[in-house]
Amino acid sequence: MGKIIAITTPKGGVGKTTTAVNLALALAQNKKRTLLIDLDPAGQCAASFGYDNENIKADILDVLRFRNSFKTVILKTDDENLDFVPMKNLEYLEEVQLTKLVSQDLIIKDTLGPELFSYNYIIIDCPPSLAGVTTNVLIAADSIIIPIKASRYSLNEVDRMIKHIEVIKTKFNEKLKIEGMLLTMYEMNTKVSFKTKKILVEKFPGLLFNTVIPKNVEVQESTFYNKPILTYNPNAKSSIAYKNLVDEILSRNSTPEIF
Ligand code: ADP
Ligand code: MG
Repeated sequence: MGKIIAITTPKGGVGKTTTAVNLALALAQNKKRTLLIDLDPAGQCAASFGYDNENIKADILDVLRFRNSFKTVILKTDDENLDFVPMKNLEYLEEVQLTKLVSQDLIIKDTLGPELFSYNYIIIDCPPSLAGVTTNVLIAADSIIIPIKASRYSLNEVDRMIKHIEVIKTKFNEKLKIEGMLLTMYEMNTKVSFKTKKILVEKFPGLLFNTVIPKNVEVQESTFYNKPILTYNPNAKSSIAYKNLVDEILSRNSTPEIF
């Protein structure tokens, strides 16, 4: 069974989606069979793979409302090792429906199909909140990556995240682990970056990835071309950082088996 890694933190705009997409692609480029699942009602992963509301026939919301089986919403990408389960960019009433559905804590865990057995890694992009989707995903996940954009307020959100993980571990999923905390949009030589990193290292020894994702304007450029930064410019400093992140993850994990 593949390892399920959730990319999550209650803070928005910190690089969750960018990390989910590029981590999934970098794993696939390392010949790991990978499935990326978008569970954010913003539905922003799709654009990176040439999909949008017009050409997505069915999405994960259709699975949650029993209109489609999980298998039928798995899409191919240009990389043969990377498949993708989309979430459409949801309209208000659909988001309300999603919120109602995920009030059942186990619905996502129960929805994920046996197809997960054919992947080494399953990467899940989450919305910027703790309740609902995120709680459901944490119940189903093996581990989590917490992206952190350097700032004082980010540290409060990390504390909220850690407390929530403890609750999930106690109530639902004792095997849930923190894969790591990832500094994103990191600006070298600024007091804010330096202080954020120092506090995290002292407070959470061993949890911060050695790899940091540098701030890199090409990441934003790549979104205008609907491409992950790894495809837009494989040599961009943030692309190299995402490849290093995968090396760091693979060097300490044995690859989860496919059955
Ligand atoms: P989230 O999913 O947490 O809301 P996103 O991944 O959508 O965050 O990133 C928020 C914004 O920051 C996007 O415009 C994205 O292109 C940009 N961004 C993400 N990572 C970087 C980076 N390393 N350097 C510069 N901009 C980035
Ligand atoms: Mg996002």
